[in-house]
Amino acid sequence: MCLFCKIVNKEIPSNVILENDEFVAFHDVNPKAPVHILAIPKVHVDSFNEVSPLLMQNMTSFIQDVAKEVKIDKSGYRVITNIGKDGGQEVKHLHFHILGGAKLKWEHFSDSDTQGHF
Ligand code: AMP
Repeated sequence: MCLFCKIVNKEIPSNVILENDEFVAFHDVNPKAPVHILAIPKVHVDSFNEVSPLLMQNMTSFIQDVAKEVKIDKSGYRVITNIGKDGGQEVKHLHFHILGGAKLKWEHFSDSDTQGHF
């Protein structure tokens, strides 16, 4: 069973912010912003590559509810999902990073030359 499935099953403790039948949101253990929450589906989905549009429909509402719950909906926030090797995905269970609580920077995505890939 993967790490986040264990969090869903409460085999591994997490600091839960919001939960319903389909999704759970909890604090990231290694926060990269004053607010850093992970929102995941309870069902195992490897990554955004495999997620169904139907699941994304409710996932979207859930992410919006999390942002309201922690009161960053008005000040603004960022939603990120890392996919695969180049995306930097470490945990192979779909998760959305919800980052906020401060003005976020937008820099340094790659050590490689940004010119001429396409
Ligand atoms: P990613 O690199 O997109 O796969 O993100 C995985 C995230 O999971 C990282 O930001 C980790 O800090 C976070 N993480 C790993 N283990 C735990 C855990 N037990 N509870 C909460 N967050 C975790």
